[in-house]
Amino acid sequence: MPTNYKAELTGVLGQPVAENPTGVMQEAAFAECGLDWRYLTMEVSPANLGAAMQGVRAFGMRGINLTIPHKVAVIPYLDGLSEEARVIGAVNTVVRRGDELIGENTDGKGFLRGVRQDGGMDPRGKRAVMLGAGGAARAIATELLMAGVTDLLVVNRSVERGEAMVRHLQEGTKGPIRFAPWVGTYAVPGDADLFVNATSIGLYPNVSDCPDVDLVEAKESLLVCDAVFNPPVTGLIAKAKGRGLRVLDGLSMLVYQGVIGFELWTGVKAPEAVMKEALEKALQ
Ligand code: NDP
Repeated sequence: MPTNYKAELTGVLGQPVAENPTGVMQEAAFAECGLDWRYLTMEVSPANLGAAMQGVRAFGMRGINLTIPHKVAVIPYLDGLSEEARVIGAVNTVVRRGDELIGENTDGKGFLRGVRQDGGMDPRGKRAVMLGAGGAARAIATELLMAGVTDLLVVNRSVERGEAMVRHLQEGTKGPIRFAPWVGTYAVPGDADLFVNATSIGLYPNVSDCPDVDLVEAKESLLVCDAVFNPPVTGLIAKAKGRGLRVLDGLSMLVYQGVIGFELWTGVKAPEAVMKEALEKALQ
């Protein structure tokens, strides 16, 4: 216990937020690194977001995470955005730089770090296929395009939403992104190197749901990734494993987005293994 009771503050604003596991992971990291920092989990309604952001400034908080429904709505309360957050159009991490609050988006960066570190793949020059066109998909797509994939095919149920996202990211990144509607069973093409589920299909409590995809044509080296982290072994991950394919679960993305946030806030190298272990325990 510190003697001056003056801890540095971080936290998450969301609604609902009680089940958000990030605090467990960040508190474990602070303890491991001997940092007198705290991570507060704060339920904030959309009507109170402006007041909460004033509080973040008034309390001199070092950083915050934003989760549903504040990732886009927070932008007017910030002093600046990173290039990625600007293209994505959403912020999941705020960093204090002097008196300024700067919005970052570490979701896609966390995904990418997982692909490189845990999946053993450099996306540069690879062909990627992604299901989904929501917030997670937007962040993942932006980072894949910035990392130099040669083709990114977005497959989504809602044509309007999918086409709008692809148009937006084409303008923002000038990258090779295209769209296909998701009709019936989607057969993952044989030339794809990376396949990502960025929909919420399979998310707890609907754990028996699985994206309607066919992996029969998939090449042996395909890396199958799921953004859904609860449960870590989704229907898709189980199906891909059953076909002998390489997999990357959503826990990897969740841990690394937290690792990147921790390092942005503290400037200290994050204890990745400790964070992962804390998160796995919390989700058990
Ligand atoms: P959104 O609500 O913004 O988007 C949901 C997406 O899923 C849309 O593309 C939607 O398609 C699609 N979808 C949902 N249900 C179905 C269905 N039955 N059939 C076909 N498509 C469907 O959610 P987010 O992008 O914020 O989150 C997506 C997932 O990513 C969640 O499971 C979330 O937990 C996870 N996530 C994981 C993170 C991590 O660190 N691992 C970080 C952030 C998110 P349509 O447009 O047609 O409605």
